[in-house]
Amino acid sequence: MDNHLRTALRDELDALREEGTYKAERELSSPQRSTVEVQGQPLINLCANNYLGLADDPRLVQAAQQALDRWGFGMASVRFICGTQEIHTGLEERLSAFLGTEATILHSSCFDANTGLFEALLGPDDAVISDALNHASIIDGIRLCKAQRFRYANGDLGDLRRCLEEAASARRRLIVTDGVFSMDGYFAPLDGICELAERHDALVVVDDSHATGFVGAHGRGTPERFGVSDRVDLMTGTLGKALGGASGGYVTGRREVVDLLRQRSRPYLFSNSVAPPIVAASLVAIDIVERTPELRQRLWDNAARFRSRLEAGGLDVLPGEHPIAPIMVGDAARATTIAERALEGGVYAIAFSYPVVPRGKARIRTQVSAAHTAEELDHAADVLTAAATST
Ligand SMILES: *Cc1c(COP(=O)(O)O)cnc(C)c1O
Repeated sequence: MDNHLRTALRDELDALREEGTYKAERELSSPQRSTVEVQGQPLINLCANNYLGLADDPRLVQAAQQALDRWGFGMASVRFICGTQEIHTGLEERLSAFLGTEATILHSSCFDANTGLFEALLGPDDAVISDALNHASIIDGIRLCKAQRFRYANGDLGDLRRCLEEAASARRRLIVTDGVFSMDGYFAPLDGICELAERHDALVVVDDSHATGFVGAHGRGTPERFGVSDRVDLMTGTLGKALGGASGGYVTGRREVVDLLRQRSRPYLFSNSVAPPIVAASLVAIDIVERTPELRQRLWDNAARFRSRLEAGGLDVLPGEHPIAPIMVGDAARATTIAERALEGGVYAIAFSYPVVPRGKARIRTQVSAAHTAEELDHAADVLTAAATST
């Protein structure tokens, strides 16, 4: 690499720093827990997707350790060559049974599940209709397919109908939405989306990464919450959030689609199988979710407690129930300062500003876990309130 190019790249990095969008990484010297340690300082952790607190659960750790002995460390293969063990198909069947779907295909991540999905199903004669706030992996997956693209305003059923009408002449229509939008903690209006989909003969795909395991009466996600499980054609999801937090993703739903994805999803065909310890521990995570409704209840109770304590402190929390509770600040620099002060006070939460959220809508996104104690949450809310009041 010549020095010109090096200098140009360093300038680009400097520009990010000046813009305030440079992402510094903090090293944890502890496992992922309700409280983590950073440079010797204990911090109440309000920024993990560890919704059910399973990331360091001893039962998952033990299952992973036993799987190392029984199934080995890695597969050194993609699924269709020699990378499918009994536990891989076992996990796919287990996910289908848990979610009440016909079939499931495992990927290395939900990012991969989404990037492989659309081009496998849709060609130039088809239409994909996407919520404006969908996850980056959905946007990338759509970029990789040749279907006509339509985008509707976040959660706006009127705008979705407009897209469906404009796409009326397409061979296939597919609507895709996050089940929960990660910057707001808002649910997609799946009942209305399914109704429109039926009227306009469209498939419905829901990326339920921020819901699977804890949203809905049995933790089956946003479709369960809205009573539309049998009307959603496909869900994508991750094993990297509530279900243990390691890695892995999946597409689940109609059998023919899943069968076709095994033949055509490029990340599935050309990327390594999920490592055996992760597969084995994920099976245990699903067992725990199924058998422990109290865990879900604790998460929702924690979220309600934390939200009301923030509100009592006079903070502007986006309304809702989800464990994602964004504290609205507005000004980007002020949000950053509040987060820094909270960190000094032992509370770890991240400030998000443009371009991740709209300009002037900077916020501190907090995420509650079932693992948090009431004391931790009350203390964290008080620290955040004090930081915001003094900034
Ligand atoms: C986290 C997330 C992903 C990515 O999941 P990975 O398994 O970490 O790749 C995809 N979609 C949504 C909506 C997410 O929140």
